[in-house]
Amino acid sequence: MGPGGPGRASSGLGAPPAAGGAGRGPERLRTSRGGGRVNPWPWALVIALLVGQATWIFQDARRRGEAAWLWGPLGLLNVPSSLIVYLLVTRRRQRPCPVCGRRAPRGARYCPHCGTALRGEEATGP
Ligand SMILES: [Zn+2]
Repeated sequence: MGPGGPGRASSGLGAPPAAGGAGRGPERLRTSRGGGRVNPWPWALVIALLVGQATWIFQDARRRGEAAWLWGPLGLLNVPSSLIVYLLVTRRRQRPCPVCGRRAPRGARYCPHCGTALRGEEATGP
C-alpha cells in the first residue's frame, strides 16, 4: 500500500518543485518588509523649537548685556535644558530692582535704569 505516506516532500523521485525560484526566496522576503520611512515631522518640530529658543535666548541675553553670542548657540543644543540653564544662571546673577522692576547686575550698587540704591547696607548715612 502507500509506502511514501508521511514523506511526501522527501520522496526524492523528481526534481524539487519550483526549483527556478529557489534563489530569489530570501530576497523577496527582504524587499517585502520595506524598511519603513522616517517621519520628518518630529525633526522639523524639534528644529523649529531649537531655533526659536536660541533666538529668544539671544535677544534676551543681548537686552540684558549678557554674552548673547555665547548663550544663543547654547540654545541650539537641546530644547528644554538650555533654556532652564540660561534662566537659572541669568536670574541668579541679576536681581530685579525694587523700584522699576528691571534686572540689575548683582554687584551693582545702583540700578542702571532708574538709579535706585540697591544695597541697603551701603546706603550713605548721615
Ligand atoms: Zn530700577
